[in-house]
Amino acid sequence: MKKLALHWKILIGMLLGLVFGFIMLQVGGRAFTEDWIKPIGSIFVKLLKLIAIPLILASLIKGISDLKDISKFKNIGLKTIGIYIVTTVIAISIGLALVNIIQPGDGVSEETIAKLTETYSENSSVKAKIAEASKQMDTGPLQFLEDMVPDNAFNALSNNKLMLQVIFFAIFLGISMLLIGEKQAKPMKKLFDSLNDIVLKMVDLIMLSAPVAVFALLANVVVSSDDPDILFALLKYAGVVVFGLVLMIVFYCIIVATFTKKNPFWFLKEISPAQLLAFSTSSSAATLPVTMERVEEHIGVDKEVSSFVLPVGATINMDGTSLYQAVAAVFIFQALGLDLTFADQITIVLTALLASIGSAAVPGAGMVMLVIVLESVGLPPELLPIGLALIFAVDRPLDMCRTVVNVTGDATVSMIVAKSVGKLHDPKPKEWDDNYDAVK
Ligand code: ASP
Repeated sequence: MKKLALHWKILIGMLLGLVFGFIMLQVGGRAFTEDWIKPIGSIFVKLLKLIAIPLILASLIKGISDLKDISKFKNIGLKTIGIYIVTTVIAISIGLALVNIIQPGDGVSEETIAKLTETYSENSSVKAKIAEASKQMDTGPLQFLEDMVPDNAFNALSNNKLMLQVIFFAIFLGISMLLIGEKQAKPMKKLFDSLNDIVLKMVDLIMLSAPVAVFALLANVVVSSDDPDILFALLKYAGVVVFGLVLMIVFYCIIVATFTKKNPFWFLKEISPAQLLAFSTSSSAATLPVTMERVEEHIGVDKEVSSFVLPVGATINMDGTSLYQAVAAVFIFQALGLDLTFADQITIVLTALLASIGSAAVPGAGMVMLVIVLESVGLPPELLPIGLALIFAVDRPLDMCRTVVNVTGDATVSMIVAKSVGKLHDPKPKEWDDNYDAVK
């Protein structure tokens, strides 16, 4: 019998998780789900995070030391950053156009605003996001560069939040390996080549449990969701964000077809396990190992490209997040009856671009940086908790959707950069049990 493709298994797991979650809500099984089901999903996410740093390190060092010529790296680096900025500006523009045309904030009644404010403005999570944003606002303009450079390699490697520091260290090491010459660098190169293959095998093994894990993750999202009445009041706003995100996926398909001449449906099918995980975990960082595995083995992007483009993309390229920030910022102004000038909308483009670069690739990070966008267009500080309260109830489902776009955007750019430097090959997928017969 033909084996069911991984993305179908994951989809079935997700659907069953949703159904199970709704049943648990009806029968009062929230505590049961949190105690007995949620840990399965959390363990899966932990396993993915566990291998993220070794994978970035091994794959980036391997990618760079395979280059043989440092100028190629500069070429890939500049192209990547340039395309990332362009796609993010396009995402923000789509968001702004939709929210200005559809005006979801105008229909929100005083009553709904009062109810949302009462329910969420004192919420500890809303307060924590505002506090976190104000910490980021207090830093100088070059702080991000300073933060990128580690002063202790082992410290950087021991903290998932310091992904850019790990990338910096790996690039530095990889370039130095090129400079000492092939013969001298050989033992180190062999070590990282082998580590890279091993970690990719770990991804295959972890993915065996993906269908069950997404069941647990989604069941937990459902049991911890908010009152459906509140979700309903925000349907128009959520609809605008989701519509914008769908347009972004269409945009990626168009550029994949135009620049790589590949079938966009094939692209979406091959990348789908990563997209489904992005949806289930709301974290591009946790999804990164799977994105790398899919892009390299199933799409055929050479490691020389993917090893740089994808980890950097997971941390700085968030098209879905920036689109959401643009829509959310304008929606909040509309709902509160405040005006935004054309100049304000341009400010939103710039700050949402910087905010999405600065957002961490973890659940809910986009909302922290939204605070900075709101402040930049002059939302008075006393209205900040109310502004966030307006959108808080639907933030989790929107986070799941925008993370899918973030991950798809990274994969698209890696394909385009690879094609432009002649590094898009025919894919050679590996299975978890390729060598199993020899060792069982
Ligand atoms: N959860 C998103 C990500 O990991 C970031 C955000 O928009 O909150 O890509």
